[in-house]
Amino acid sequence: MTVYCWLFDNVLVDTGLGHMRNDVVAALDHERIDTILLTPSHEDHSGNAAALGRRHQAPVYAHPHTVRRVSRRFSMLPYRHLVWGQIQPLEALPLPDSVTSSHSRFVPIPTPGHSIDHMSFWVEEQGALFSGDLYLGDRIKYFRENEDIGQELASLRRVLALDVGMLLCGHRPHPTGGRERLARKLAFLEEFVGEVGRLQARGLDAEAIIKKAGWREARLVKWFTFGDASLVNMVRSAMRSLAN
Ligand SMILES: [Zn+2]
Repeated sequence: MTVYCWLFDNVLVDTGLGHMRNDVVAALDHERIDTILLTPSHEDHSGNAAALGRRHQAPVYAHPHTVRRVSRRFSMLPYRHLVWGQIQPLEALPLPDSVTSSHSRFVPIPTPGHSIDHMSFWVEEQGALFSGDLYLGDRIKYFRENEDIGQELASLRRVLALDVGMLLCGHRPHPTGGRERLARKLAFLEEFVGEVGRLQARGLDAEAIIKKAGWREARLVKWFTFGDASLVNMVRSAMRSLAN
């Protein structure tokens, strides 16, 4: 999986994974970085925030939950440690209402769902949305255990009120047509929740819903993550959102 960090107008959004610390720090060494913003606290986004903040004397801003989480070493599931590496603890600051760079204004927009502390950043002058893990693809095949599909639907509807051209996703960016991409993901998730609801009304449980709908469990991902990421988690999240 490719992980992006975005440097725009002296503001760095996300910092990549700890396993690539030397490469990321070297790639940005001759750039001017005044401010660092984090989307979620996940270690593929926050892994090098401490090193880059120190190197560039730049403050790191994030959601208050992220601030608490990254202030000390946090425990990680073994697969996450293996793939991304540990993050170095850092002193981040809670996000202000907006961050001004030399030519632009970054407005933080809460977009929970993928995680409770997930933030996106909107730069209206450019029609650019730095969306972290909000988008990831038109269709997705699995959820981690603590993802919340109801919150994710609300977050997608929130950013669809914006005229997004550039969708600067943390893993699968689209330089144009961002709004269309976000709309496609919203439609996919709405349809998914609708189908789960229809099958649940017939008395089926999560496993039976997958079978009946003709979906396939992401077996390799489920195995590698010891069940942390799976299609059945996504179905269960849909069932929880329908119960609320
Ligand atoms: Zn990510």
